[in-house]
Amino acid sequence: MASQKIAILSVYDKTGLLDLAKGLIKNNVRLLASGGTAKLIREAGFDVEDVSAITNAPEMLSGRVKTLHPAVHAGILARNLASDEKDLADQNINKVDYVVCNLYPFKDTVAKVNVTIPEAVEEIDIGGVTLIRAAAKNHSRVTILSDPQDYPSFLQELEKGDIPVETRQRYALKAFEHTADYDAAIADFFRKQYAGNGVQQLSLRYGANPHQKPAAAFVRNRNLPFKVLGGSPGYINLLDCLNAWPLVKELKEALGLPAAASFKHVSPAGAAIGVPLTETERKVYMVDDIAGIETSALAQAYARARGADRMSSFGDAIALSDVCDVATAKIISREVSDGVIAPGYEPEALEILKKKKGGKYLVLQMDETYEPPSQESRTVYGVTLTQGRNDVKISPTESFNTVIRPKNSPQLSDSALRDLTVATIAVKYTQSNSVCYALNGQIIGLGAGQQSRIHCTRLAGDKADNWWMRFHERTLSISWAKGVKRPEKSNAIDMLCSGQVPPQSEFETKDYERSFAEGSVPKPFSPEERREWLSKLSEVAVSSDAFFPFVDNVYRAARSGVKYIAAPTGSQNDGAVFDTAENLGITFIEQRTRLFHH
Ligand code: 5GP
Repeated sequence: MASQKIAILSVYDKTGLLDLAKGLIKNNVRLLASGGTAKLIREAGFDVEDVSAITNAPEMLSGRVKTLHPAVHAGILARNLASDEKDLADQNINKVDYVVCNLYPFKDTVAKVNVTIPEAVEEIDIGGVTLIRAAAKNHSRVTILSDPQDYPSFLQELEKGDIPVETRQRYALKAFEHTADYDAAIADFFRKQYAGNGVQQLSLRYGANPHQKPAAAFVRNRNLPFKVLGGSPGYINLLDCLNAWPLVKELKEALGLPAAASFKHVSPAGAAIGVPLTETERKVYMVDDIAGIETSALAQAYARARGADRMSSFGDAIALSDVCDVATAKIISREVSDGVIAPGYEPEALEILKKKKGGKYLVLQMDETYEPPSQESRTVYGVTLTQGRNDVKISPTESFNTVIRPKNSPQLSDSALRDLTVATIAVKYTQSNSVCYALNGQIIGLGAGQQSRIHCTRLAGDKADNWWMRFHERTLSISWAKGVKRPEKSNAIDMLCSGQVPPQSEFETKDYERSFAEGSVPKPFSPEERREWLSKLSEVAVSSDAFFPFVDNVYRAARSGVKYIAAPTGSQNDGAVFDTAENLGITFIEQRTRLFHH
């Protein structure tokens, strides 16, 4: 006759316990239970023994030790092996067949306001986790029930005989997830208590919006890869900085010059490498009065990044590939900006930045050696999504060394390769769909987050046009009214350059004209003037994060001086796209990696 099966029950949540006990007894299972669990079953009139019946040891330390004993755990962990059977027989231990256990409510306890560390510590279940892990580990023989919802279906199967292997596997998985979740909650609590704010975790004021609380950033098993030197970061600041940093790091690695990026809402408004600025560029980017800019490639990179689209860069998060010097800090100090991330700061530069925003300007120092894990995950609406990180390398020598059309095209110049690299690394860190126009080592127009690619190509193209209209003599010679601030100048220039003038109402006109010196409101550009000036824009490189589905994208790009397009292929219209590019004198480079980013 087969020996009587044994169940060990030790549950904090006693939901469904009595029905389960009744069902087990009906199926001739011997019940052993820890203190409170046994009491409830016994009081209901069912036959149950205390765990001490097999351990011959009392519960101790006010419940800290209840089931932790070789008689319990050897009984659970034993396999159907002769050597295991012998060990059990030597010690007079019986095999355990079913374990029913759920854990102390750690999460509920630490969710209480002002919970103390001793209170939390007492809620750390030790023996329960051990019971669950042991039973789940040995699920090839043992059934582990960690969720009261599973009791009814378990009893139905028990009625029929043995619990099927698939059911034991399902319960084991659930059990492992139960303990993993439990341990994560404990680690989360103690990270907040012991890691120190800003070391391994950072409490944030709120998430994307002020009502999204609580909010935090943290890493597991190591310290945060950045230090907060000034201000306190918000959720979106961190999203921006942690996208902007790898962008500048990659730009520098690919092109060998210091790089800078100006981010807004998790897409770059501008990004550039430190190509020396011409006098006109310095004027257009409003940095002609910055001392030391000629000798700082980093400052020139940020001037370009910020200058690409000054309207969009208002309130930016900045990333710098190199130690921030005084010239760069000076440019930053007088712009409206939220924060900066860089591998370091010269002492004087740090002083300048720390004074910004009444001392609240966000200054982050990034650990240059940090390598993120190759797998990344996030949850959306409670569902966890994981993927390999997009660690594809974009380089001027490798990424565009592919099929180039037309076939007889001359070799790409260094400047074309440089600008294609800038545009392609930029789209890698831009919310999709994305299309980027680049020239002189910088973004000049970038379309982000558009559902339609042609809208993206148009948006980026229009931005590139506006950028170029800022180099027109009329824009350069604007004379400003006294006291007009830099952002107001940028707004007025944008109105003029993007063809929003003359304004449509009296109020708007007054508002617009207020920015200019008496009697010197610039004449709006006529369509002919615009066309004539735009025809001078040339040698522009474009990169797209995915293929062009229709030829309209190529037509639009050509209108903004585009000579090079790098994009993945795979569209049904590839042939037509190649032909259109050829007809318009554009070199088309098959950039083989799709670069969607979300
Ligand atoms: P009871 O109400 O039966 O006294 O206790 C049930 C709870 O004790 C369950 O949540 C179970 O996970 C937990 N438990 C079982 N064995 C031990 C042990 O040896 N030490 C600790 N700290 N908790 C245990």
